Amino acid sequence: MSGDLAESESRKLLQRLRDTLAAPGASQDRLDNITHHIADSIGAEVCSVYLFRDPQTLELCATEGLRPEAVHQTRLRLGEGLVGRVARTGQPINTADAPAEPGFRFMPETGEEVYPSFLGVPIQRVGEKLGVLVVQSRQSRRFTEDECYGMEVVAMVLAEMAELGAFAGGSNDGVTARHRFPAVFRGTSGQEGAAEGHVWLHEPRVVVTNPVGDDPQRERARLAEGVAMLRSRLDALLADLSLGGGDHADVMETFRMFANSRSWMRRMEEDIDLGLSAEAAVEKEQGQARARLERATDPYLRERLHDLDDLSNRLLRILTGQGRDTGAEMPENPILVARNIGPAELLDYGRKLRGVVLSEGSVGSHAAIVARALAIPLVVNAGRIAVEALNGDAIFVDGDTGIVHLRPEDSVAAAFRDKIAMQAEAQKRYADLRGLPAVATCGTRIELYMNAGLMADLPSLEGSGAEGVGLFRTELQFLTRTRVPRRGDLATLYRKVMDNAQGKPVVFRTLDIGSDKVLPYMKPQDEPNPAMGWRAIRLGLDKRGVLRMQLQALLRAGAGRPLEIMFPFVAEPSEFTRARAILGEQLERERQLGHELPTSIRVGAMLETPSIAFAPRSFFTSCDFLSIGGNDLKQFFFAADRENEAVRRRYDTLSPAFLSLLKQIVDRCDEAGVPLSFCGEDAGRPIEAATFAALGLRKLSMRPASIGPVKHLFRRIDLSELSRVVAGGMESDAETLRPAITDWLARNG
Ligand code: PEP
Ligand code: MG
Repeated sequence: MSGDLAESESRKLLQRLRDTLAAPGASQDRLDNITHHIADSIGAEVCSVYLFRDPQTLELCATEGLRPEAVHQTRLRLGEGLVGRVARTGQPINTADAPAEPGFRFMPETGEEVYPSFLGVPIQRVGEKLGVLVVQSRQSRRFTEDECYGMEVVAMVLAEMAELGAFAGGSNDGVTARHRFPAVFRGTSGQEGAAEGHVWLHEPRVVVTNPVGDDPQRERARLAEGVAMLRSRLDALLADLSLGGGDHADVMETFRMFANSRSWMRRMEEDIDLGLSAEAAVEKEQGQARARLERATDPYLRERLHDLDDLSNRLLRILTGQGRDTGAEMPENPILVARNIGPAELLDYGRKLRGVVLSEGSVGSHAAIVARALAIPLVVNAGRIAVEALNGDAIFVDGDTGIVHLRPEDSVAAAFRDKIAMQAEAQKRYADLRGLPAVATCGTRIELYMNAGLMADLPSLEGSGAEGVGLFRTELQFLTRTRVPRRGDLATLYRKVMDNAQGKPVVFRTLDIGSDKVLPYMKPQDEPNPAMGWRAIRLGLDKRGVLRMQLQALLRAGAGRPLEIMFPFVAEPSEFTRARAILGEQLERERQLGHELPTSIRVGAMLETPSIAFAPRSFFTSCDFLSIGGNDLKQFFFAADRENEAVRRRYDTLSPAFLSLLKQIVDRCDEAGVPLSFCGEDAGRPIEAATFAALGLRKLSMRPASIGPVKHLFRRIDLSELSRVVAGGMESDAETLRPAITDWLARNG
């Protein structure tokens, strides 16, 4: 046949391919039959299938028309020649004059010089590259649009057949052994630590067992039924969510818009008419959307393509009857691999996980906040890992460098295990220090506290040897729900936290929401710079209902014992005064209601903007304590977004400029007689922690795992000497004191 690949012809071809799949026989015979049928159907002299031998190399696995000797001999690197280009870009190439195409590579062993017409389409399955399907003809012509479309449909069926293992075994074994190669992914560190384990996919792969549909009418009806079911589920979800209102509902509304989209439906129906089953049609369109997503830079478009991707997944699960719960057993030492994950879902997994790797995500995402609270290594932005990994694959996560090894070679695994063993060894050493105070050799004592944000953090209080919780971030209970938590629930949680602390102090920070931490039920403000926007205490003072409710919950939880509360992001004294007044009102209310009150209340402010370091003395004396939120203070001091990879490590905490600011804060607090602590991430880094102590800070709050290393260092150094080194460095014109301090520590610590 030549010319258009008519619908009926396409269906006939797909059915032949399906029969090939069903028939017993060797994989090579199958591939040979397939190329023969395709060439015959499209009326081209040549049809070839190239599959990946390894992630960088394509191999000619079957051909009709080229020299048979070239099979399993001809290989191309990814990006090499037209075939390599199709594979790399995931885009078809259709040309009447192949040798004139940029990148054309002549392969004499195939005898292809006599075929100028070339059409290559990628064989891919929801973004996963498997190979390239090529047809060539002697007559110099471009293939028609219908022919191209038809070939994409055929390639889709081949992809599903590959997924089902139809080409595995025999001479193709090395080629079709996908998901067996070692792979390395370079992402961004979201939480430090190293872990070894096995992949647990948050969204298991859907397997399409019947890519070919016999009866288009029936498949169209199945698709329509599936979409109707999807719509009604979305409606139900929407009705439920709109009770709570807010942003979630907006997202679902977008979803519903897609589910009603005619063009999406039409494309899938066309795929069905060409012979695909309903689920293969959904997957084909999903694959195309993914490919567009990978190229898209416009955030709005990306968001919509994401929605479409999620929707396709839901529809696929409906059509195949495969739920999220596939009945698979979670492997030992599970490491969660996902494209992305919400905070509530991650919390559900809880401490079962050894690590988390996300293809997307960001350092400041809610999931990252939860991973940090769970103290498990997290790597975000890890590329295509969610497509490449299979449940149970061996995986090593290095949260320090952001590198992930999937199915690593023995040598890599051995090196990685050494690293984990060294860390474990160090942890053991630190555990021996647990009961000892952090006293420097000069006799100066530093109090080490831990940061927390979940009930699940509390066991670390005992394990780490922390003297208390210096910062309890209260956002998580708000972030992981679909509506504002109830006062009673919060009070119960805060009470449990204090009970578990067994008399050790806990400093509760009131809600720091806004900026990167957006509540699902709160309409996000369209702010150009949310970190400098309507957040934390600013929001609390403007929307007092939530602040009042949280303060009531804290007062109730603190009944009969001391209570410590801290307001975040105070930029001018009146914000603190007003927040404190609201607390006073709530206290009075509790008194009038006859509730038992805390035995004492200490109220502090977080120093997170440079402005407040310059506040009048009266501000310092009005606070019961102050805590430097170094993460925010540093980003505003250097005007360098803490979430932006391009700048977040650009300026050093140990620069004389930043240390001067800290020194000034220390001096002002000393002079005013107000206790000061530091609770940003830097407090948990030994070199930084030592420098802060040298500046005069006496209380540091950090993640529990950092307490051991920091204490270990403190107990070996003379802080008065380090103070002289730091003071000297601050007089110099060095841009950072890091080399001088590191050097001194190496010699003395
Ligand atoms: C800080 O800014 O340093 C801090 C401790 O608060 P968060 O990281 O929660 O903004
Ligand atoms: Mg902060």
